[in-house]
Amino acid sequence: MVHIPHLIVGAGPVGLILGHYFKRFNIPFQIFEKQSFLSAHPSAHYLNMRTMEILDELNIQLPLENIQHFSNYVYLRRIGEQPLNSTRQLIDYKQYSYTSYAHLPQSLFVQHVQEGIRDKIQLNKEIKKIEFKDKIIKVNDDITCDYLYGCDGLNGFVRDYLKIKLIGNRDLQRFLNIHFTSKQLVNRLEQYNSMLSFIYNSDITAVIIKHRIEDGIFAIQIPLDLLTGKTDIQEVQHIKQDHVLIKNLINKTLLSQVNDIEIKSVGFWRMGAVYAEQYYKNNCVLVGDACHGMPPAGGFGMNTGIQDAQNLAYKIKDQKDLLYYQKERQQIAQDNIETALKYYKKSLNIAKSFTFDINKLKIYQSVMKNTPDFLYQTGVKLGGSLIELDPIYKRLKVDDCIPLVFPKEEIGFKYNSGDIGENGGQLAPLVVREILRKKERKWYSINCDSNYERIDIENVNKMIVRNDMHIYQQQQQQ
Ligand SMILES: Cc1cc2nc3c(=O)[nH]c(=O)nc-3n(C[C@H](O)[C@H](O)[C@H](O)COP(=O)(O)OP(=O)(O)OC[C@H]3O[C@@H](n4cnc5c(N)ncnc54)[C@H](O)[C@@H]3O)c2cc1C
Repeated sequence: MVHIPHLIVGAGPVGLILGHYFKRFNIPFQIFEKQSFLSAHPSAHYLNMRTMEILDELNIQLPLENIQHFSNYVYLRRIGEQPLNSTRQLIDYKQYSYTSYAHLPQSLFVQHVQEGIRDKIQLNKEIKKIEFKDKIIKVNDDITCDYLYGCDGLNGFVRDYLKIKLIGNRDLQRFLNIHFTSKQLVNRLEQYNSMLSFIYNSDITAVIIKHRIEDGIFAIQIPLDLLTGKTDIQEVQHIKQDHVLIKNLINKTLLSQVNDIEIKSVGFWRMGAVYAEQYYKNNCVLVGDACHGMPPAGGFGMNTGIQDAQNLAYKIKDQKDLLYYQKERQQIAQDNIETALKYYKKSLNIAKSFTFDINKLKIYQSVMKNTPDFLYQTGVKLGGSLIELDPIYKRLKVDDCIPLVFPKEEIGFKYNSGDIGENGGQLAPLVVREILRKKERKWYSINCDSNYERIDIENVNKMIVRNDMHIYQQQQQQ
């Protein structure tokens, strides 16, 4: 029997960040990952300001590209044409944070974040069984641990085994996800500077995600119900192997001369809007997607999980009641789900693209199909006159589009009362959501064994203001 005091299940982005904090706090840990490799699918891609502050705290350096190239969402009928609409939002992040929001595909994120804790990651180790004996947790018959951290994703084993319910809608929509590379597509999309390109044409409704310029990494997400009329992933599993069909779908989406496509992986994504009823049971703690799932609008999924990991790591280090972790993070998850849902619904209104109402989409597609091409061309040339042609775009205003940056949700939370200090650890902090500019955010350090850690808990004793908050910015400018 091997004893691992702190066992993290899953080497996704959240398990890895938790591992980094444990290393920093000298908490003995191992990470078990069931696969023989870290996920190579790009999935999430937006790193928000709070996440960047966490990465800074952990001294994790990432190969980030210029965010300017990812500053738009465009709505297109066809690549090469003038966008039907677009959202552009480059905010002055310096008023909110000493870091900037950034962009990096999740596959590269995990590759870089594993550095520094690689020796703690055990691949091909699947957790299949958990038992409780007094205060000890027994795992897979041959391991014991004091704490078990379920960082094993939304379909993970740990939450299921603990019989913790999910609250909300687990099955909002399912997508086919195609991950591919193409340098030519980088050039074709250059004029738009778009992170996301929504494509609506008579053949397909899809979104192209530009993950990385340097290596030409892209993903296409296509709503499964619109593609096949089926929502049962088992029934459409064969699509994953059918590379002729996949190439055909890519061509339909791009409608553009791109000859260097290399398909990397194909998968399905079951999108939900849910959070776990409980975040822990008997020293088994859920973190990241294991305790919440949300639509991609706003890019909150991975970011919320990374921020859970930071919060939890401090609680474990300071031996706090896990109830504080649950109360603080569950509320943040609920808020972020609400915001992501709001913008997901807006995206439905934009062109009925990600819709359950397949009939409406068919009408829309038939309108598109029956509108002669030359009218579209004229419309594009004449700018506004296109709007006259299309009943859906007629209603579309820039305000209806999805913002790129969400200062309030990204960093706009503070704890009015802390679990350290005046409340003697009895009261969970009250989380207040409001837009906090940098000068309104109070940065504190706690002197623990001569390690200075920075957290943003307000109104707590024994803390001193740290005055090196500009370090990151200065490094960037050098
Ligand atoms: C196809 C796809 C597209 C997505 N697109 C977006 C997007 O556009 N925007 C967005 O915000 N979010 C998106 N997401 C969600 C985002 O990827 C997640 O929020 C993020 O991955 C959560 O990280 P995590 O570490 O909590 O879980 P995961 O990334 O799911 O990692 C869990 C890890 O645990 C391992 N594991 C599972 N069970 C066990 C076990 N029993 N034993 C050992 N190891 C185990 C898994 O192999 C995996 O490596 C997408 C997800 C998918 C799948």
